[in-house]
Amino acid sequence: MITMRNDYLTFGAPSIEQAEIDEVVDCLRSGWLGTGPKVARFEEMFRQYIGSGHAMAVNSCTAGLHLSMIAAGLGAGDEVITTPMTFCATINSIIHTGATPVLVDCDRDTQLIDPQRIEKAITPRTRAIVPVHLCGRPCDMDAIMDLASRYGLAVIEDAAHAIEAVYKGRKVGTIGHLTAFSFYVTKNVVTGEGGMVTTGDNELADKIKVYALHGLSQDAWKRFSDDGYKHYQVVFPGFKYNMMDLQAAIGLHQLSRVTVTLKRRNEIWQAYNRAFADLPLGLPAPDDPDTVHARHLYTLMIDPDRCGITRDEFMERLHRRNIGTGVHYVGVHLHPYYRSLYGYRPEDFPNATWISERTVSIPLSPKLSDADIGDVIESVRMAIPE
Ligand SMILES: *Cc1c(COP(=O)(O)O)cnc(C)c1O
Repeated sequence: MITMRNDYLTFGAPSIEQAEIDEVVDCLRSGWLGTGPKVARFEEMFRQYIGSGHAMAVNSCTAGLHLSMIAAGLGAGDEVITTPMTFCATINSIIHTGATPVLVDCDRDTQLIDPQRIEKAITPRTRAIVPVHLCGRPCDMDAIMDLASRYGLAVIEDAAHAIEAVYKGRKVGTIGHLTAFSFYVTKNVVTGEGGMVTTGDNELADKIKVYALHGLSQDAWKRFSDDGYKHYQVVFPGFKYNMMDLQAAIGLHQLSRVTVTLKRRNEIWQAYNRAFADLPLGLPAPDDPDTVHARHLYTLMIDPDRCGITRDEFMERLHRRNIGTGVHYVGVHLHPYYRSLYGYRPEDFPNATWISERTVSIPLSPKLSDADIGDVIESVRMAIPE
């Protein structure tokens, strides 16, 4: 018998518990809503979790990427190599520094930037590489760091999907020169809007702190303390990218549960792998040895030749059964702005184009009940024609 769930399973719904609610209320009652003690606590907790020298909270990963690129000295005339299989924020951050993004194709199975293609794209103007740990799978950082040291390039990691990721015993956030994380509502650790930059470099850390709050010389949150008025000096035309205590209040408790939620994401991941093994779908590539995958997105490849339906038809079928899905992503090279500005054609990045036309993400939130997981599995199986 075919049954259908009554309520809509929203894709990427966050799991918010009483501790977050209480901490937000505490924040409101304290009257200290902006950057203050909770942000400082959250930064220190995140720094310890990652094991990085520094962690600077910001109001989004996009802001973190932009600040990292400015701190790394990127600007007009520079080239920055990255992948087309990413969110537009990665590319927009590069463009906003004045630098030129240079896309190189990804691997079709891992969906990650291909280090061999990076090396071919390096020119005398190349200044940085921006690897994206798509879906939570760590990029081949040994190869990328090797290129960076041989060619004198900065490595700025987009780790929006990869808070929990580990590459060969090293936590993502301790490998490249700068790493930006996201706490957007759909991400693995949530603050509503929010982000964090980690680095082991004292000078880069100092720059980021100053640039994130208008370019004021004072340490961002000391100025708001109760030691009396302090004059501030502007030392750089900075940005308004600081995180609020209201946001950190949520993040403190989200981060304290990160090991538990990753375990749940892993269970859901394995359940999907087992349930779909006999279907004509592309499943996520097996994990690389000696890595921890952050299990941010579980993506299926819907190849019309094998499945008998298109990706968009598949999404529509799940939608009609009250299951929300997502697309991560339609490659950067296929969007009109970048296409017209840089002259990209779909065939320039055949793997990214192939993935863009087939990829669909199904729910992976730790909030899913066993019944929800059963509904997703049944709906996927029913969507694929016999
Ligand atoms: C979500 C995301 C971002 C941007 O994160 P925000 O915190 O929303 O600014 C950047 N890159 C990737 C790959 C993302 O998924």
